[in-house]
Amino acid sequence: MRWRTSMGWLRDERGSIAAILALAMGVLLSMTALVVDGGLLYLVRARLADAADASALAGVQELPENPEEAELVARDFASRNGVPAGGVVVNISDNWHRIEVEVSQTVNLMFARLFGFRQVEVKAKSCARVGPVRAVKGAVPFGVERQAFEYGVQYTLNYVSNDKDRENGRHRGNFGALALGGTGGGTYRDNIKYGYSGTLHVGDWVETEPGRMAGPTWQGVEYRINQCDHVPGCSWNSFVPGCPRLVYVPIVDSAIPPKGRDYVQIVGFAAFFLEGVEGHGSSARVTGTFIRTVIEGECWDGEDFGLRSCRLVE
Ligand SMILES: [Zn+2]
Repeated sequence: MRWRTSMGWLRDERGSIAAILALAMGVLLSMTALVVDGGLLYLVRARLADAADASALAGVQELPENPEEAELVARDFASRNGVPAGGVVVNISDNWHRIEVEVSQTVNLMFARLFGFRQVEVKAKSCARVGPVRAVKGAVPFGVERQAFEYGVQYTLNYVSNDKDRENGRHRGNFGALALGGTGGGTYRDNIKYGYSGTLHVGDWVETEPGRMAGPTWQGVEYRINQCDHVPGCSWNSFVPGCPRLVYVPIVDSAIPPKGRDYVQIVGFAAFFLEGVEGHGSSARVTGTFIRTVIEGECWDGEDFGLRSCRLVE
C-alpha cells in the first residue's frame, strides 16, 4: 500500500517533471532563437550599415558632376560589400550634392521559425554630401584671384611683383604672394615647399607679401615637383593621394596689390597640380592644372572652386 502510494507519487512527479521539462525546453528554445537569430540579425544589420556608409561615401565622390556615375559606384560598393543586387536603392538630391543609399537583405531565421517567424528584412540607410571645403591645412601661399576655373586645362599662373607682369598674364591667371605665419622670402618659400602649417578658413583675412618673391617661388615649386618620386610619374588626372605636386591654393576676393603690405580675404580653395616653373628676375611662371578633388575636412554651401570635402550626414 505504501509502495503503491509511493509509486503513484512517483508517477505524478514524473508528469510534473515532463511538464517542467517541456516548459524549460520552450524557454530554452525561445532563448536560443533570441540569441542565435538575434545575433545573426545584429551582424547582418552591422554589415549592411557599413555597406551603406561605404557606398554613400564612394558614390558622393562623383558628385556633383556625375550623378549617374555616382549611382553606379554606390551600387558597385554595395555589391562588393555583400548586398544582394535587388537590395540597393540610391537617391540623389536635385542639386546633386547629396546621395542616399538604402540597402536591405532578407535574412532566413534559424530558430525563430519554430515560432512562426521565417524571414526578416534587415535595412540600413546612409547619406553623404559633398561641398566646397571650408578650411584647409597645408595650403601654399599663392593668393589667386576669384574666377571661374576651367578644370583639366593647363594654366600658367604669373607671379605678380610689378604692374608690367600683371598686365601680361591677366587672363590666364595671376597670383600674388601671401605672408602666412610670418613675412619674408624664407617663410614664403617654406610655405610652398611644405605647405603652411596652420589652418586657413573661408572668411579669413590674410596678409600679402610685398617683397620680390620670384626666386623663392620657383625654388619652392621646383622642390615640390622634384619631391614626387612616384612611379609612374603623377599627372593631373592620375596621381598618388598626398603627392607633393598637388597643392591647395587660397582663392582671394581681390587682386593682390603688387606693392605694399595689404590684406585680402579668402573666399575658397582650389586644387592645383604643379607641372612646371620658370623664373627670372622679378617674375615667375607656374604651370599646372586646376582639378576637382575631394579631401578630408568640413564642407559648406559656399562658392565652389573645385576643392571639396564630403561627409556622412544624419
Ligand atoms: Zn606624385
